[in-house]
Amino acid sequence: MSLDIRVATNQAPPLVGHNIVTTDAALVEAVTRHASAEVVEDLAPIGALAGTAEAREHGMLANEHHPRLTPYDRYGNRIDEVEFHPSWHWLMERAVGQGLAAAPWESDSPYAHVRRAAGFMAWSHTEPGHGCPISMTYAAVPALRADDAIAKEWTPLLASLSYDPGLRPAATKLGALAGMGMTEKQGGSDVRANVTEARRTSVEGEYTLHGHKWFTSAPMNDVFLVLAQAPGGVTCFVVPRVLPDGTHNRLDVVRLKDKLGNRSNASSELEFEGTLAHRLGDEGRGVRTIIEMVAATRLDCVLGSTSLIRRAVNEATWHTAHRSAFGSLLIEKPLMQNVLADLAVEAEAATALAVRLAAAVDNLNDPHEAALRRIALPLSKFWVCKRTPAAVAEALECLGGNGYVEESGMPLLYREAPLNSVWEGSGNVNALDVLRALGREPEALDAWITEVGRARGGDARLDRAVEETLALLGSLMGDPASMEVNARRLAVRMALCLQGSLLVRFAPAEVADVFCASRLGSSYDGVFGTLDGGDLRAIVERATPVA
Ligand SMILES: Cc1cc2nc3c(=O)[nH]c(=O)nc-3n(C[C@H](O)[C@H](O)[C@H](O)COP(=O)(O)OP(=O)(O)OC[C@H]3O[C@@H](n4cnc5c(N)ncnc54)[C@H](O)[C@@H]3O)c2cc1C
Repeated sequence: MSLDIRVATNQAPPLVGHNIVTTDAALVEAVTRHASAEVVEDLAPIGALAGTAEAREHGMLANEHHPRLTPYDRYGNRIDEVEFHPSWHWLMERAVGQGLAAAPWESDSPYAHVRRAAGFMAWSHTEPGHGCPISMTYAAVPALRADDAIAKEWTPLLASLSYDPGLRPAATKLGALAGMGMTEKQGGSDVRANVTEARRTSVEGEYTLHGHKWFTSAPMNDVFLVLAQAPGGVTCFVVPRVLPDGTHNRLDVVRLKDKLGNRSNASSELEFEGTLAHRLGDEGRGVRTIIEMVAATRLDCVLGSTSLIRRAVNEATWHTAHRSAFGSLLIEKPLMQNVLADLAVEAEAATALAVRLAAAVDNLNDPHEAALRRIALPLSKFWVCKRTPAAVAEALECLGGNGYVEESGMPLLYREAPLNSVWEGSGNVNALDVLRALGREPEALDAWITEVGRARGGDARLDRAVEETLALLGSLMGDPASMEVNARRLAVRMALCLQGSLLVRFAPAEVADVFCASRLGSSYDGVFGTLDGGDLRAIVERATPVA
């Protein structure tokens, strides 16, 4: 047989033309469980569009053509404009238009946050960078509620379905986007070390800011929640990018960060000198005020990481279902099935947890849900985000050399993978926040016990893991030094028990079985592909997208 080297054989076609929502069994089941089948139907168009070749192309282009800062115009006027590729705007317009920014806060639907969470996860398959301004816009609203008048001014614009970019006064816009400025050079996690100063003006509630921010993403957004030192201590401020008279507020964009990943998005260093700001909440209560925004962005870190894992697993199962080696499809090889099933179980567990967290936001008036969210959010942010780089790297390897090449899209996912663990409280900070919740809010631990207890009797390995986790907690309680040094161990175990309880209650038996055996039992060797038995074929089949 003669070979035509101009025609490639045994290469997987691009993974396009599939519905990212409806072909994700774990997502469909979780949304149906915590919302309804109608919500899945409502999400299907988002899944269809996100799976198109066009959307994939825009995702790639937005990452290839990085945002560019233009500090001055041609005449030397300071303008601080950031220019994005048209593909960025294409993605943003659809994300906002599909209600993935702050729309759920204005919705009457009892499932608005589950819908938005699932839509956000599906849409983030297109590319993850533009999720940053979308998330911050979503997250700003609960913090803005600290002040009725300010919330009334901004919420309708942030919840709008219109994407209206450009530096103009908010009142002239159809929709607005929000950002966050906490991190300074001398202190990120420790925001009490902030040195940016807020000086009162003669107008009640109005201040000027003097100082800087070391990281402020999406500097083209319309409004920022900023921490600064007021006379009464660290305080939260609302800082519009453009003032009502059309003049630019004094947010000098010093430079854009040259980042490992997240390259479609602009992350900037800012300087303030006489920047107009409105106090949000009381002086000295800034952390307490902005923590509402931080909590909501932490949810999005879980959603974003879950989306990265799912997209990577989709690519891995798709590729191996089309590529043969040594006489058969890779997906049929027993060892490859072990790797793929292990990855698929990780995606299942992350998805179940992510949607459960979003359901808690839909039901915050229920004390159990509010307490569960308090403890489950930092646990999940810690654990799901920590699993992401390992899962994405393993999925990339399933594509062999092709996975290491930019065109495959896998390097984009790989570069993005560590980010959700870094921002909005890095790993240790979230693990320590779990301790804070345990120490200060007894109802948080009760909520965790109630939640994991709902699966009691479903799997002996889960029951044992819960008992061991409580025993570990009991042995550490009362000894702050031991608690602190063991914070990650505790967070991992508590997160795994939560994931296990959801899978035991709701996932197919083969998925729950493998999860409990590997993550909660003793048979795990610390690397994907070391499952000790189970119905691997069924697990992989469930995780293989159908185009
Ligand atoms: C791409 C990108 C975009 C960002 N965008 C924004 C933005 O829009 N707005 C914004 O405000 N910030 C933003 N950040 C900043 C980000 O939130 C911070 O980098 C992060 O919170 C960590 O703060 P830091 O960099 O000062 O590190 P540090 O606070 O110095 O922490 C360094 C390490 O020490 C650990 N650590 C801290 N305290 C403790 C402790 N008590 N015990 C044990 N370990 C500890 C941390 O977990 C971390 O691993 C962005 C960062 C990145 C990478």
